Amino acid sequence: MFRLFGYFIEIIRGILITARHFIVNMVFHILNLFGIKTKRKGAFTIQYPEQKTEIAERHRSLHRLMKREDGKPRCVACMLCETVCPSECIYIEATEDPDPEIQKYPSTFIIDLSRCCFCGFCVEACPEDAIRMDTGEVEFAQYNRKDMVLDLESLLNEPK
Ligand code: SF4
Ligand code: SF4
Repeated sequence: MFRLFGYFIEIIRGILITARHFIVNMVFHILNLFGIKTKRKGAFTIQYPEQKTEIAERHRSLHRLMKREDGKPRCVACMLCETVCPSECIYIEATEDPDPEIQKYPSTFIIDLSRCCFCGFCVEACPEDAIRMDTGEVEFAQYNRKDMVLDLESLLNEPK
């Protein structure tokens, strides 16, 4: 009898905890609906895609290649990013640059987003700060894989 009583007590306790979370989250959600900002994050539903949430500064979003002042890629085709990439989704072809200071530039630079795991190793490895993942672009879903392949031109012009 005592065991049965304890069983029901635990059920009621569980219901009360669930109800407490429900009511607290509902209050924050209503405050958010009226545009009242609170310190508590994630307690409300974001109506995506109509409503977008802020992306953290350090978030790794779509890649881009940086340019020099004359518009040429900052990349010197050292292949470090291609070598370090765990998904093997970077492909670079190096070409000699007439400028002896630069030596090489990428005539082809491809990133296959369908294989990329967004680890950021390519950014970390780059000695020229030539590749970044700071576009803030996170919506790049496509209907087929070939549209997820970024080439040099699209990477230089902050793609899609
Ligand atoms: S983020 Fe990672 S997986 Fe994607 S291209 Fe860079 S190194 Fe490769
Ligand atoms: S590591 Fe940087 S400089 Fe080297 S190939 Fe990659 S993007 Fe270019």
